[in-house]
Amino acid sequence: MKNIVVFLGAPGAGKGTAAAAVAARTGARHVSTGAMLRDAVARGTPAGLEAKSYMEAGGLVPDEVLYRMIAELLAATPDPATLFFDGFPRNEAQAAKLDELAAASGATVSSALLLDVSREALLERLGGRRVCPKCGAGYHVKALPPKVEGVCDACGAALVTRVDDQPATIARRLEVYESATAPVIGFYEKAGKLRRVDASGTAEEVAALVEKAVS
Ligand SMILES: [Zn+2]
Repeated sequence: MKNIVVFLGAPGAGKGTAAAAVAARTGARHVSTGAMLRDAVARGTPAGLEAKSYMEAGGLVPDEVLYRMIAELLAATPDPATLFFDGFPRNEAQAAKLDELAAASGATVSSALLLDVSREALLERLGGRRVCPKCGAGYHVKALPPKVEGVCDACGAALVTRVDDQPATIARRLEVYESATAPVIGFYEKAGKLRRVDASGTAEEVAALVEKAVS
């Protein structure tokens, strides 16, 4: 059986980190949309070549191309296998399409894990990020503070907050996520496949809960 587990979670919920950690431990395959795209382009698959032409033109890869890429991936995956989808589906239409693509290649979407974190915790996680404009080193005011507040350990430059990590941008990113993902959550809830995982703890704690939920 080819088994697909969909990972859902807001920016900052840590779904990519958890999916990668649990995949490494359990032998599941972590399929992030970005990595799948890069891999298909690098290998020159038919869908990869098509995606490449859109990317080179500076445009977004259309859903139809993404769907063909997923179909290629599922067809090339040996049976049995467990795949962790991270970054897809992003809306209800994609969720419905994933069920179709899975069925067409003898796979099943067995569950959707929602990594649950409160809005406050997300704001703290994302808003605490600092970066060194000179050497690119990354910090977090709570989770990974520099030795001297506001100063890069490596080169001594003053740390900055990226535009992406400023409160107004974070609020907008969370709103975009919520409006697109709420219907996806509803889709899997209706199908009886939604599982909520408390993702408020450390990366290790979250990975342990995710591992339990998928085993
Ligand atoms: Zn630096």
